[in-house]
Amino acid sequence: MIDIPKITLHDGLEIPTVGLGTYNLKGEDGVTSILQAIDAGYRLLDTAYNYENEGTVGEAVRRTGVPRRDLIVTSKLPGRYHAYDDALITVQESLFRARLEYYDLYLIHWPNPITDKYVEAWEALIEAKKRGYVRSIGVCNFLPEHLERLRQETGVLPVMNQIELHPAFNQEAQRKWHVANGVQTQSWSPLGRMAYILEDDNLQLIASHHGKSIAQIVLRWHYQLGSVIIPKSARLERQQENIDIFDFALSEDEMAVISRMTRPDGRQKGQDPAEYEEF
Ligand code: NDP
Repeated sequence: MIDIPKITLHDGLEIPTVGLGTYNLKGEDGVTSILQAIDAGYRLLDTAYNYENEGTVGEAVRRTGVPRRDLIVTSKLPGRYHAYDDALITVQESLFRARLEYYDLYLIHWPNPITDKYVEAWEALIEAKKRGYVRSIGVCNFLPEHLERLRQETGVLPVMNQIELHPAFNQEAQRKWHVANGVQTQSWSPLGRMAYILEDDNLQLIASHHGKSIAQIVLRWHYQLGSVIIPKSARLERQQENIDIFDFALSEDEMAVISRMTRPDGRQKGQDPAEYEEF
């Protein structure tokens, strides 16, 4: 079993640097996939209210022999429940769905800046933490301007921001802002859903040089950037492959080659948090 290195968030919570994305892992098959990932060494599980699989994740947490305190379970608040009272109730509904007593991390899923209720949603998460429903609170897809507003209006900055990050969209400016302000970056779709990385000649060369797969090269790049990753795979061999990235290192040149793959239009579906809204 691979021992995944951990990092400490600004409120003291320790989390693994690699976790399991669970989008589309549902039902008995989903529970089986998650249990095999836990057996392989995964201790961080990423779900969301909108994935409709908090029940599956909660079932795996109950069936595994790994103690609850050794797992980090994350869920997320959907855009349609940003109003304060709705948000507070949704966190409780999330817990009921998973049949868990607490989440380790609870994130606002999207800022939805046109609807403009994310500050209320954040105030509700602050209260949810006070009540013990969640241990740590963070966000996804927040731009620096949204994070600044949370700080100005509530005095509390998220511990983490989960953002779209893969070689075609490396988020350099956003990552710098996070480092300067003590917010941990977490990459969603870290493999770019395997949509384009397999065809890249440079990645192929780097992979051959290290005797690793292209997926492992890309995941190692995230790790060396300092980002927490949550690759999703339903299959045990890939789950194992995706955490087997701690026995080699990319050179500065190799890091730079991968970082140069970024493009202004590199988002997978053009979901720019300045205007995109998800409910
Ligand atoms: P990923 O970049 O993790 O890619 C997942 C895809 O790659 C799946 O089709 C999987 O197939 C395949 N795959 C995984 N590992 C390998 C491998 N080693 N070799 C070949 N293929 C592989 O994309 P996701 O979009 O799923 O992102 C990961 C997680 O991020 C999500 O599951 C979710 O938890 C989170 N997320 C959060 C968002 C947000 O707004 N906060 C938005 C989107 C995602 P298979 O399962 O068949 O192995």
